[in-house]
Parts: sequence; C-alpha cells; structure tokens
Amino acid sequence: MSRTVYVNGEFLPEEDAKISVFDRGFLFADAAYEVFPVLDGGIVDADAHLARLARSLDELDFPAHYTPDEYLPVLKTLVRNNKLHEGLIYMQVTRGAQDRSFNFPKNADPTVVMFTQQDTIADDPVAKTGITVITVPDIRWQRCDIKTVALLPACLAKAEASRRGADDAWLVDDEGFITEGSSNNAYIITKDNKVVTRHLSKAILHGITRVSVLSLISQTNLELEERPFTIEEANGAIEAFSTSASAFVMPVVSINGNKIADGKPGPHAMVLRKLCLEAARQSAAETPALSPRHRIKKRSS
Ligand code: PMP
Repeated sequence: MSRTVYVNGEFLPEEDAKISVFDRGFLFADAAYEVFPVLDGGIVDADAHLARLARSLDELDFPAHYTPDEYLPVLKTLVRNNKLHEGLIYMQVTRGAQDRSFNFPKNADPTVVMFTQQDTIADDPVAKTGITVITVPDIRWQRCDIKTVALLPACLAKAEASRRGADDAWLVDDEGFITEGSSNNAYIITKDNKVVTRHLSKAILHGITRVSVLSLISQTNLELEERPFTIEEANGAIEAFSTSASAFVMPVVSINGNKIADGKPGPHAMVLRKLCLEAARQSAAETPALSPRHRIKKRSS
C-alpha cells in the first residue's frame, strides 16, 4: 500500500513525492536528519529529536526557517495518515536546490521530507538472542555530534560487518578506543557493575536513547562511568549493549568473534531494555497521532 509522504508542505502519495536533482542533500549530503520511533501510534521523545535536529541545522549554519513546534503537528499527521502503530518516522532537512556550487546558496528554500516505515521495534526477536559486532576503524569526520546524512562510513562499516558474518560494527578511534556503533551508542558493563560508555564530545552522536538509558541506571544496582573503553576491556566485560531510537537497548553477545561472558544477552541489558521500553511507551502516549478531525495549515514557502 502506498504511504503518504511529506514534502515541503504537502502530504503526497509516495510515488508522487519528488525532490530536485539539484538538491544539495543529494549533491553534497548538505542535510541533517532524525529518526523518531513510533510505539502504540504515538511518537517517542518527539521534543528531544526535534531539538537535536534544530541543533544540527544550527551547527551547519542553515538559515532558521522553522521552529520544532511547527513540525510536531506534521509528524503527528503523518502517523495518522499512514495509520502507523509501530515503526519509525524519518525526517530530513536539506539546504535546498540550486545550481551546483560548493558555496551555500543565497536564497534556496530548505527541502523538508518526512516518511514513515512500519516495523516491529518493541518486540524485536533479535533482542532475545542479541547481536554480534566486529570492530572497524572510525573513518568519519570530526563532527559526529551533528546528525548529517553523510552516512557512507556507516554503510561501509555495516557492509564489512555482514561480510564478516556479524550484525553490526563498533568504530575504533586512532588511540584504540571505541567511539560508538555504526548507528548506535556503545556500552559495556564491567565486573564491578559499572556501565561504561564514551563521554559526550564531537566524536559521537549524542543519542536520545542514551539520555533515556543513562537516567534509568539509577533504578538499577549499576553505576555509570562516562569514559572511553578499548576492545580489550570490552572482551573482559560481563555484558555489552548498544542503544538507538530504532532498537532501544540491544544486547551485544560477541565482539570480533569473542563471546561476551557466556555469549547470551546479559540480565542487566535486558532490565535496561525493559525500563527503556516502558519510558518510551509513556513518552509515546504523551504524543499521540493527530485526531482525524484536526487539519494542519499548509506551509507557505
Ligand atoms: N550514534 C550514531 C552514529 C547513530 O547513527 C545513532 C542513531 N541515529 C545513535 C548513535 C543513537 O542515537 P539515538 O538514540 O538518538 O537514535
């Protein structure tokens, strides 16, 4: 069934949703994006994702053209029009279309695209067995805190993982420390019950799920330590896991073929997953789809 896609103020059937070949998102990856989880027909952590998008655009010097408040009704309408119960909303903002030039255009209108993808994210069967990861050098740029669509290094890392028979890749910096996963934040739990994850900096994306999980640690007997860790330390960990908006807390059961503990999802990761899902459902309930009668005003460009 054809989805409804949002493009620059219009809700269109997906086959009619088009952007220009001159769009800077296409030509230069001159664009930022967000992925919003949807549970029970509501949007999880909508405000936090919209705030991060606003920050990404600001860091990239995009002309201010919208407030997060303006896009919340659009996201809610998209969930309603697509009858999305569970899955994701993808939102991308590019600097717009103009003849190809490295210089920023003087007066192009940003392109805004949003679409939904139905998916089973809460009861994902993969979480029951956990995932395997390999490590690869982190070859990304030095502003990984900005969520841009320049994702080729992540695609290469995932391709290398599947070539080596693994589910995902963790990225390693020049000093031998893990920065994060190809599309998630990375964590280990040490023998003395410390959850270790890299501190916030320009080297990692400031995950929205990371914020949620770190706040939930106080409800467990675990402690938090925000610092870099090496592959060797991860090999000696009692548990490992990753977090992202589309996978919540995902247990990691082996790194480069070395089992973490007994090679099964760890109990701490499973508790954090459960708590994270509960918090996500609560957040989703606070941001339901727009009611059928509510119409949003067409955006003037
Ligand atoms: N790091 C990277 C590189 C990512 O791509 C993502 C997911 N977009 C994350 C971390 C996790 O962020 P979030 O929890 O906001 O999905």
